[in-house]
Amino acid sequence: EAASPAIARVWFDGELVDADGPRVGVTTHALHYGSGVFEGIRAYATRDGAAVFRLADHLERMRKGATLLGIAFDPDVAAEAVVRTLRANGHRDAYVRPLAWVGAGSFGLDVAGHAQHFMVATTPTPVHLGGARTRLGVSRWRRNPARALPPLKLCGGYVNSILAKREAKARGCDEALFVDDDGFVVECTGANVFAVSGDRIVAVEHADALPGITRDTLVATCGAECRPMSLAELRDADEVFVCGTAAEVTPIAALEEREYGVGPVTREIAALYARLVRGLESMPAAWLATA
Ligand code: PMP
Repeated sequence: EAASPAIARVWFDGELVDADGPRVGVTTHALHYGSGVFEGIRAYATRDGAAVFRLADHLERMRKGATLLGIAFDPDVAAEAVVRTLRANGHRDAYVRPLAWVGAGSFGLDVAGHAQHFMVATTPTPVHLGGARTRLGVSRWRRNPARALPPLKLCGGYVNSILAKREAKARGCDEALFVDDDGFVVECTGANVFAVSGDRIVAVEHADALPGITRDTLVATCGAECRPMSLAELRDADEVFVCGTAAEVTPIAALEEREYGVGPVTREIAALYARLVRGLESMPAAWLATA
């Protein structure tokens, strides 16, 4: 399949190449077993040019996944690759996808002795969730338990998200909400969950959920309380929104039969986040990396 024309160049194993250039072998270990780790990062146009939001934090999370899989990964080298790929494509507002994976070797599960690869692609197309009318369905699938698969961006772990997304879409929903055996909210397939009740903002906490960087950003900037939350409490909240690098702050219109209005608190937080990522709010200097 040809790469999108908007993606002219990709980073592949130490250099920029034409996007449709790299060929990956059919015996690639990651293709068979999901032995890879990726990130979803975003760059935004700011007054001082393009800037990547919380690049170092994304690459640190990626390093943790790479370490688990025995993949050599240097966050500084990866940061340089991200910036160079953005520049090569002339992308300012962009979604950035780095991936490190185990390549060809044997069909054995032991990754030792296999080739390792690293790529970065950038795309100007944002990955949307469900827009302003995002409907959540409670998934019949359980989230990968952290004790079986740590909540990092390991490729194979996303089969769990794919199954839940397929089921949600088949039922006419935009996104799936994972709930655990005890009725506690975990997260969505690619976003963390927040609830607003009165003027209290709660960032839903769960051991099986990915520690989202957007969630962390909002907790640090809008005074949210982090704690576990039952599905019943979420249903009763005044406002619900989900957040992630791609989703940004997405208001939830419905959770199964329960409908929510797009409330004032969600609107305010969405606007705050939009200003933050564009460098229009004060924040730790390390959060915006010039590209
Ligand atoms: N949960 C899952 C399962 C995700 O894939 C993502 C997207 N990375 C998130 C939450 C949100 O994380 P972040 O804010 O770091 O993008």
